[in-house]
Amino acid sequence: MTEPLVRVQNLVREYTLPREKLFQPPGKVHALNDVSFTIEAGRSLGIVGESGSGKSTLARLVMALDTPTSGSVTMLGRDLHRLPREELRKARRDFQMVFQDPYGSLDPRQTIERIVTEPLAAQGGLTRADMRKQAEDVLDSVGLRRNDLGKYPHEFSGGQRQRIAIARALITRPRLIVADEPVSALDVSVQAQVLNLMQDLQTEFGITYMLISHDLAVVHHLCHDVAVLWQGRIVEQGPPQRLFTDAQHEYTRTLVAAVPNPEPPSVPAEPLAARTVEP
Ligand code: ADP
Ligand code: MG
Repeated sequence: MTEPLVRVQNLVREYTLPREKLFQPPGKVHALNDVSFTIEAGRSLGIVGESGSGKSTLARLVMALDTPTSGSVTMLGRDLHRLPREELRKARRDFQMVFQDPYGSLDPRQTIERIVTEPLAAQGGLTRADMRKQAEDVLDSVGLRRNDLGKYPHEFSGGQRQRIAIARALITRPRLIVADEPVSALDVSVQAQVLNLMQDLQTEFGITYMLISHDLAVVHHLCHDVAVLWQGRIVEQGPPQRLFTDAQHEYTRTLVAAVPNPEPPSVPAEPLAARTVEP
């Protein structure tokens, strides 16, 4: 039996709002409501939904950057939110994140070498020279130059900064990369370049993505399945081709209608053979 890469079960996240009146109970936002899905290794999942539908909340919970109100996230058989701190720190090698804003997510005071090697430094056990070598390799993989290591984020364009963020995510050789709106802040011409890079890395390194976007057109290139999130619930899930041709939920039809070019979407690359997980 192969464990799925990720199993999300009955995930709920409520936020308590600041109390408006002293004698009234504080308000609550149900950001996620009973969300369940699995991601098999090699089958990237797109999460699509409008602003406020709970996408970033879901990303933070899957990355164990936030705690669910109830429900669980199991990664390769380990319940992430119940792992002891030290175990969780080690487990982070297998899953990394790319954030939406390539300006805000890179510390402007740190060199590219520092930024890109940060996940390795957090794992510990490597010398600076080892980490530098690995940083050079990942910069090659994302189409940047080795002598970029000594530079600072402001010396790069938006698309290049997102390549740096992808290099940082890639450096621990993760199984899963969660990318939360990775191209939304970029010019349309640059978006395609970054998505093509992500597609190449998917094939080259066997990366599985959980790719979040408000735009169905962005996810269909990279993802084998798409889950449509609406008001904190998954209302529809399936291969992108099926959603394009036979959407069941009204909100999905709105998303399909928003894709400008109605030509039939290309079929994403064949899923990679699922790797066996050691017990
Ligand atoms: P998306 O990424 O799809 O735009 P989010 O996950 O950011 O959606 O937000 C989902 C809902 O939860 C929204 O209604 C948002 O206002 C609310 N929310 C998100 N984070 C917080 C927070 N820290 N405190 C209170 N409400 C929040
Ligand atoms: Mg968001």
